[in-house]
Amino acid sequence: MNILAFESSCDETAVAVVRDGRTVLSDAILSQADMHALYGGVVPEIASRKHVEAISGLTDRALSDAGLTKKDIDAVAVTYAPGLIGAVLVAVSFAKSVAYSLGVPLIPVHHIRGHIAANYLAFPELKPPFLALAISGGNTLIVDVKDYTDMEILGATRDDAAGECFDKAARVLGLPYPGGKPMDELAQQSPGGVYHLPRAHVDGADLDMSFSGLKTAVVNLAHNAQQKGETLDRAALARDFARAVSDELVPRTMEAARRSGRRTIVAAGGVAANSVIRADLQAACEEAGCTLFVPPLALCGDNGAMIGAQGYYEYLAGRRGGLSLNAYATMDLNEQE
Ligand code: ATP
Ligand code: MG
Ligand code: FE
Repeated sequence: MNILAFESSCDETAVAVVRDGRTVLSDAILSQADMHALYGGVVPEIASRKHVEAISGLTDRALSDAGLTKKDIDAVAVTYAPGLIGAVLVAVSFAKSVAYSLGVPLIPVHHIRGHIAANYLAFPELKPPFLALAISGGNTLIVDVKDYTDMEILGATRDDAAGECFDKAARVLGLPYPGGKPMDELAQQSPGGVYHLPRAHVDGADLDMSFSGLKTAVVNLAHNAQQKGETLDRAALARDFARAVSDELVPRTMEAARRSGRRTIVAAGGVAANSVIRADLQAACEEAGCTLFVPPLALCGDNGAMIGAQGYYEYLAGRRGGLSLNAYATMDLNEQE
């Protein structure tokens, strides 16, 4: 089954063709990150307009890269939540018109379910149940993936997402948007151990996380250093920061795996590209005797293929969207429209 998949929830316009949820036939992506970097973050109105400009051409490219025509498409999948509402609406509207004109089913896909499903593309042997750590620009979740479309959130951030925190810390260190990758590169230049950064604890919900205190600590460090005319060891701070984020994420993930009895752990989302977090997860899984799956870097960030992968399993579960399908800025992983 060939699924044409659309993604426009943030600042990547992406169209892919995926066969049977596992094989990527094409994956056309246009990132707007350079444009938003001028403003230090995503400007929603610009994002929506750029999606409108790009989506039709990318669809042609995804089909031709796959060596297919529209006649070969069996269903259309689209991210319908969560994301910047004006941005999400672009792919939802476009996908509705494509599904209608081709006379094929339309499948709504939750963006974070898509991030998790990126792993199905990289690892043919991976099947639920497993425990997922979904860490991205807007979400930080520990999820028990009981089946392809049956998930339970075991832990979540109470405030900022891990990626948001990386982006903010990068900004105060003078690094460009999106800051996760440059922070990671800077961190690799130092062993760290210089700055003491806070670790949060949520009373009564020990699998939940909080990143706002960490974010404020980095902002204050940079601000105070500037006021006193001191120079920060930026590489050490980047390293200590990554370690602090990893300390929030990795032990809780392992504890969630222990409690749920899962022996397979899967990382997902843009922040899963982080080298410190990847290494810590690997070490923790080895120690606990768990198997770890982390997507290749290209499948960590937003892409259309992951939506095609999850779309296939949503289709098998009977999930369909009609022409009245709407876009949503926020939506729980388990909510249905
Ligand atoms: P969401 O998926 O929650 O809607 P999003 O789509 O914007 O948000 P992703 O595209 O999954 O998020 O990930 C982008 C985030 O990943 C950004 O915050 C970016 O800084 C971060 N990121 C990318 N590479 C790295 C890295 N190597 N280390 C840490 N963070 C990274
Ligand atoms: Mg992006
Ligand atoms: Fe994303």
